[in-house]
Amino acid sequence: MSVAPPTPREGRGAYAAAQRQFDVAADQLHLDDQVRQVLREVKRELVVHFPVEFDDGSFGVFTGFRVQHNIARGPAKGGLRYHPAMTLDDCRALAMYMSWKTALVELPFGGAKGGVCCDPRQLSVAELERLTRRFTTEVSLLIGPEKDIPAPDLGTDWRVMAWIMDTVSMHAGYSVTAAVTGKPTEIGGSAGRYTSTGRGLTTVTLQAMRDHGRAVEGATLAVQGFGQVGSQCAALLGALGMKVVAVSDSRGGVYNGAGLDLPALHAHRREGGRVSDFGGAEHISNEELLALDVDVLVPAAVESQVTAANAGRVRARVIAEGANAPVTADAEDALTDRGVLIIPDVLANAGGVVVSYFEWVQDLQAFFWESGEVNSRLEQIMSRAYAVVRDRAREAHVSLREAAYQVAVQRVADAAAVRGIFP
Ligand code: NAD
Repeated sequence: MSVAPPTPREGRGAYAAAQRQFDVAADQLHLDDQVRQVLREVKRELVVHFPVEFDDGSFGVFTGFRVQHNIARGPAKGGLRYHPAMTLDDCRALAMYMSWKTALVELPFGGAKGGVCCDPRQLSVAELERLTRRFTTEVSLLIGPEKDIPAPDLGTDWRVMAWIMDTVSMHAGYSVTAAVTGKPTEIGGSAGRYTSTGRGLTTVTLQAMRDHGRAVEGATLAVQGFGQVGSQCAALLGALGMKVVAVSDSRGGVYNGAGLDLPALHAHRREGGRVSDFGGAEHISNEELLALDVDVLVPAAVESQVTAANAGRVRARVIAEGANAPVTADAEDALTDRGVLIIPDVLANAGGVVVSYFEWVQDLQAFFWESGEVNSRLEQIMSRAYAVVRDRAREAHVSLREAAYQVAVQRVADAAAVRGIFP
């Protein structure tokens, strides 16, 4: 396929928004001004322009990025996104966000993000492989098991991670399995990685419900986005006695007040069916799903789904953010005023990076764990992170999101300070 590479766009203010969010935590923590100045900026950023040959013999020049926000706590960690609208500004914001997330769950990592401005759906498998290998070579001065470890994100998957691992290994002359996470298990991937984000979300949701005196058995649940995160948390929360009444994908959703038949829905999906084609349930739109009268709503699709415009219609009592930033800041204010409990993304969806950490540890040791061990260690880490955030929220009279940011920013600041990098 010979499709011209997308022209890189200007940023849309994501980094400025991430810095404002950091400023709130820094103010609340009375952070030292020098520490604040350092943590407010990204440490390193690399922009690369590289040619990729298309299958018809023509070629296009693509633009890619890798940004490291902070490495005070350890090597940088963060996903790689292949998307036509990917910008350097997005990478900076997401790299900063990864520093807070890894610190919150006490992983020995800093934060990074990267990507290529491309539409992977317009590329053949061979073109995608050539693009990935060339991009990996271009950013190879930054990435590596002891420096910066990429992982899948939007538009990338286990296969892209395998190509990256192979390219790094070809340059090194030996297999460098710990260079990326989210790999197939045949080449050093971890058991339990696919279910990890849904499992982590399940752990923190259960604990938040118990803390707020809400029964889990029989509680109703709606999940927007029946992908990796949404389908796994629906299955796990359903198995624990919650009634999954609605799920959706990008084309729309299905609702059954008596509870959806999840095994049948999974079978329907495996056979190539869409959520919205599933029989035995009422068809609803994504907008209707978000407004359902349920105990728990899990937005697990894309960002900015609950906004100031529709927050008034949301009737869920608990929102657990599976996606990144599905609830906008102004919507959160309105919902919190009405007593809705929001379990923030930086905590709720951290299970994926926790098991990525396990994958890196297993690769470095060349010693692999059973899925039971992965899952129980994951639950332990998520429970501990939740308890720390809950206690901070209670002590400081702030939301769970503000508490999570306070804890995370303080940890990164402490690591930077103890290393003595400030005059
Ligand atoms: P996925 O691609 O497997 O699933 C996404 C699902 O959302 C699909 O069912 C898709 O049809 C649906 N969707 C897309 N746009 C939608 C829309 N506008 N309305 C309703 N549904 C829509 O992705 P995933 O890995 O499950 O990730 C979901 C979200 O969670 C993403 O925002 C991702 O960044 C975030 N996240 C994922 C992980 C992980 O480990 N996979 C970790 C942290 C955060």
